[in-house]
Amino acid sequence: MVERGALIDGAVLAAKVTAEVGNDVRALAARGMTPGLTVVLVGDDPASAVYVGSKERTCIELGMRGETIRRPASITQSELLDIVDRLNTDPAVHGILVQMPLPKHIDAEAVVRRIRPDKDVDGFHPVNVGKLWIGDTDGFAPCTPAGVLYMLRASHVRTSGAECVIVGRSNIVGKPMAGLMVQPGVDATVTICHSRTRDLAAHTSRADILIVAAGRARMITADMVKPGAVVIDVGMNRIPDATKKSGSRLVGDVDFDSVRPIASRITPVPGGVGRMTIAMLMANTARAAAQLGA
Ligand code: NDP
Repeated sequence: MVERGALIDGAVLAAKVTAEVGNDVRALAARGMTPGLTVVLVGDDPASAVYVGSKERTCIELGMRGETIRRPASITQSELLDIVDRLNTDPAVHGILVQMPLPKHIDAEAVVRRIRPDKDVDGFHPVNVGKLWIGDTDGFAPCTPAGVLYMLRASHVRTSGAECVIVGRSNIVGKPMAGLMVQPGVDATVTICHSRTRDLAAHTSRADILIVAAGRARMITADMVKPGAVVIDVGMNRIPDATKKSGSRLVGDVDFDSVRPIASRITPVPGGVGRMTIAMLMANTARAAAQLGA
């Protein structure tokens, strides 16, 4: 019988990743090393402050050094680059992350390019982007797509030869996701869709693995999904909900209630992919420390 509607639980899998990272941190501690992540937070965007707070907290829970450098939105480009330069040469810092978005007067690309690739645990530096595509495993893959691949592997989803359709082509999710899925060893046949794709449903409905990262609330409906597909919902969208105290709630890019009975496995929102991202950041930081200390 074909399995239907099984949940891929992000909380359980994120806990598995952090337990593995905890073991790595203890092994490094035995060699006298404490992995350290420094996050640079510019401005006072409340959502960024929440993300950064949980990154720092998770580091500390895992026995790593977690530090946040906070600067006002008025920081200049050269002041920010100076901070990156200092972190690049600080031997106690193994991972550097500059929280996006940055204020408009800052050239975000230039900031990302200034980070030493071997400390770029976000995986956005062009060297790491290149390493991902050529299959060089000492680079860093961006945390969200790396988390999705971990979820697929941990859930024993057969990827070899599978039709994998990705909706979204951002540098943060869609493109690196495609790069990971097409690598030898994963071996999926990949299609990337975007806002100019003609007949999106024609593509999504032939996917064995459908990964959606478009940022459009519940855009993937049951009629767009092949029966038995594995559906991974990366989307995080706030929609109004008068029944909630906050007046809103979080939904994915997939219309969960209608798609769940058709999918073989599906990630919920919240409690799915979102839980993996920080866990993979911790894994990248521990590996950066191991590689830098080797
Ligand atoms: P972007 O806005 O950068 O990219 C969205 C992509 O989706 C674009 O490539 C866009 O196409 C495509 N797209 C938009 N509308 C459609 C449509 N109607 N049909 C087909 N393609 C479409 O978003 P991100 O990649 O940064 O994020 C995507 C979603 O994932 C968001 O909801 C975000 O909040 C969430 N997210 C979740 C994370 C997590 O930890 N769970 C981490 C990062 C993101 P085009 O290029 O043509 O404009």
